[in-house]
Amino acid sequence: NREIHLQRRPSGMPVAEDFKLVSTPLAGVKKGEVLIRNLWMSVDPYMRGRMIDRKSYIPPFALGAVLEGGAIGEVIESDNPAFAVGQKVAHMSGWREYYISNGEDLQPLPESPVPDQAFLGVLGMPGMTAYTGLLKIGELKQNDNVFVSAASGAVGSIVCQIAKLKGCYVVGSVGSDAKAEYLTSELGVDAAINYKTSKDLSADLAAACPNGIDVYFENVGGAHLEAALNVINDHGRIAVCGMIDQYNAEEPVPGPTNLAMIIIKKLKIQGFIVFEHWDEYPAFVQQMSQWILEEKVRYRETVYEGIELAPEAFMGLFTGKNTGKMLVKLA
Ligand code: NDP
Repeated sequence: NREIHLQRRPSGMPVAEDFKLVSTPLAGVKKGEVLIRNLWMSVDPYMRGRMIDRKSYIPPFALGAVLEGGAIGEVIESDNPAFAVGQKVAHMSGWREYYISNGEDLQPLPESPVPDQAFLGVLGMPGMTAYTGLLKIGELKQNDNVFVSAASGAVGSIVCQIAKLKGCYVVGSVGSDAKAEYLTSELGVDAAINYKTSKDLSADLAAACPNGIDVYFENVGGAHLEAALNVINDHGRIAVCGMIDQYNAEEPVPGPTNLAMIIIKKLKIQGFIVFEHWDEYPAFVQQMSQWILEEKVRYRETVYEGIELAPEAFMGLFTGKNTGKMLVKLA
């Protein structure tokens, strides 16, 4: 069994030396346990926060120990009557090739015509984040004007498409012209902004949103939030999902200079953590599966192969190496 340990807490942008590939012997399966061969694992931006030793909504990763994260595996040996050999399961013990569980932390993968790894992306946590954040937290209404940052990523690409399905005008911001083209030509987004080449994000956003913004789906923070506050309409809503622009900051980041817009425009701003809404996951899977099968929602994956590339895949999230869900294929 090979697994990835957190060797050192990253300072700023994570680097290869923060991680260590370790080979460990596999213990035997004891009574009540199952042996799982991991097939896919997820790398997600929130894991960067868990690499810092601080109190948060989820405990930090331990130093010198195997990392954790969403994974899909197959039961290859079982001494637990609830799990037959061949059963596919979702669990939170990724970053390793094999995993032994007593079964309590395993969710059997639903029967689905959609490929297994979609349960780490469009049909999993990121898809559920898009759905909850936009519809429930952002209180999306028909014909709203919607702005989405990190719009070609796992969450953002789904937010854009749900908003289009609800008849909205949608603008996305991304870090390359190729991603902008993906949004407008494949996902039906009305306009896309390349924030890396933009000289004035507020001006470009205002130009792309002739009727302003009613809902901003916030994935980035910093200059994106400042621009959104400038362009958003009175009584606009901001669903604060993430602030990836500051996850690797080495010093406190300056706040937007225009927070008074919250008062002037009477805005409603709400953060959320998707796991607090997990009771609605079954309903989400049903709706999203239907949209996928009807080809109303499309999704892309960026796949790195082999456990040894998991750190590279993770680091790539912060330099925009992915379009759609970033995944590591293990077997
Ligand atoms: P993505 O698939 O969107 O990958 C991250 C993307 O962010 C990159 O592809 C990159 O695209 C963009 N990015 C990276 N650094 C920056 C930067 N400094 N400024 C602007 N864009 C940047 O990841 P996810 O879809 O998994 O996550 C998106 C956001 O949602 C994150 O902020 C994450 O923390 C948050 N999240 C929150 C959850 C919650 O419960 N609140 C649950 C899941 C995710 P580009 O090339 O366009 O720069």
